[in-house]
Amino acid sequence: MSGFEGSFLGATDKISAQAIMECKICWTPYDPAEGDDTRQVLPGTPFLALPDDWSCPNCSAPKEQFLVSEDPGSDAMRAAALLNEKTKALVADFTEVWHAKMRDVPIVNKLLQVQAAGWGVHDGRPLGVLISPWFMNLIQLPAEDEDWSGLTAGEKEVIAFPSGDYEFIHNTREMTGGYKACSLFSPMNDFKSQQQAVDVANAVMQALFLEEHRAETDRAADIRAAREAELAAQAEAEGAEADAALPAEPTRRQVLTAGITGDAG
Ligand code: FE
Repeated sequence: MSGFEGSFLGATDKISAQAIMECKICWTPYDPAEGDDTRQVLPGTPFLALPDDWSCPNCSAPKEQFLVSEDPGSDAMRAAALLNEKTKALVADFTEVWHAKMRDVPIVNKLLQVQAAGWGVHDGRPLGVLISPWFMNLIQLPAEDEDWSGLTAGEKEVIAFPSGDYEFIHNTREMTGGYKACSLFSPMNDFKSQQQAVDVANAVMQALFLEEHRAETDRAADIRAAREAELAAQAEAEGAEADAALPAEPTRRQVLTAGITGDAG
């Protein structure tokens, strides 16, 4: 706790309603989930909503002597802000490509614009769909403690999700940095509106995490599992280079996108 002193001291905008606080003098915690029996403070009362004259139930230190012990609410807010920042960079990056290079290419669908849809954090990595006038990709970005700036553009990687395994292609861009992309649709000519593209993107994000989608491709999964076992044995014999020898995996976006585009499909 040393070095953290004074971090609260009236900085009430820095803690959320879920913040668990701790007395700096005697380390007695205040947990909003429990409230404070000794002062008839009901469970569910945030630290910030305590009366001004509330003090430590153990040593009577004033409220100002409490420090943040744990703040899940604030962590969630921080994560959301970070995700927002990353998707904004991605959208800015591809909006620039759109204006600089793609606008007059015949295959583009001018009803569409660059937009991020269905983004969230899965296994610590931002994941979501990027819609553009010429493609719709599932995109994974690095976790906070990962550095993907050294990814080799064009290299393939199979990433497993509950609905199956998907082939992603590595890439890097100036604003976005390193990222991994799985192609869902390209070109985008069948989409009739931006809203339709967003609806499909959100449906893809749901389907990705549904295990029942795996059943439809059980046989493919069996074949792949057998081949992976074979390759793993081979890898042990030959070392790490075996990955490069992976035969091209069929992408499983058909599973994800089957039937969800309606007449757009
Ligand atoms: Fe205390």
